[in-house]
Parts: sequence; C-alpha cells; structure tokens
Amino acid sequence: MKVSHIEHLGIAVKSLDEAIPYWENVLGLKCYKIEEVADQKVKTAFFKIGETKIELLEPTCPESKIAGFIEKRGIGIHHMALAVENIEEQLADAASKEIRLIDQTPRKGADGMTIAFLHPKSTQGILTELCENKNK
Ligand code: ZN
Repeated sequence: MKVSHIEHLGIAVKSLDEAIPYWENVLGLKCYKIEEVADQKVKTAFFKIGETKIELLEPTCPESKIAGFIEKRGIGIHHMALAVENIEEQLADAASKEIRLIDQTPRKGADGMTIAFLHPKSTQGILTELCENKNK
C-alpha cells in the first residue's frame, strides 16, 4: 500500500460539549467544523494539528457503533485514518495481502472524504480507515 500521512485520529467521546473544551482550552486548538454523519449515527467535531486532524465522535443513539465502543472500552482513541491516493487500488492491495476489509468498496465519510475501514483483527489491533480526498 501507499500511505502519505495520518489523515486523522478518530476519538470516541460521550459528549462533544464535554470534550471540546479540553481540545480548545487546554491544547489551544480550534474546532473548525461540527458535522452529523447520520448513517454512522455520530456527531463529529474536527480540529487540526499540522497536517493531521482530530475527529471527535459522539454517538447520536445507543445503537451507534461508537456507543458500543465506549460501553466496552471507554472513551479514547477509536481509529486511525491513513491518507491515501486512489483508495480503490489501496483497498485491493490490502485485500491481496489478506487484510480483512470492513468496507469492500469505498463510501462517503465525514468532512467530504471517501473512506473504507480495515478490520482491527488484521491490522495489529488498530481499527484503520483509509481516507482519500477526492475533492482536492
Ligand atoms: Zn475517521
């Protein structure tokens, strides 16, 4: 595969209202966008650290995967997103190396990105998201 940088870290939080002040007041970052992603049942808040973003994920209902994650593991880092070009090719490459795919084909993610998830069982325990900005 060809990965250029960490596009973002996805961080599970119980409440954006509770989490955002830490990132803004302690770390001195500025939330530049809040976006609800209905099909993932989350509300997201974005920050930038250099080229990398922080994506806070608040579950919008108990059936949200993020709600399940917090229940099991608590709040904290949920996934790592890697920036790639030509996500279809990278996904095929991962599959050819026997990496288990959560998404067989790329789909639309938050912040205008095209995304696909790899299963943590085959990525050293790290839920990994491939991310391509097709709008640039
Ligand atoms: Zn993400």
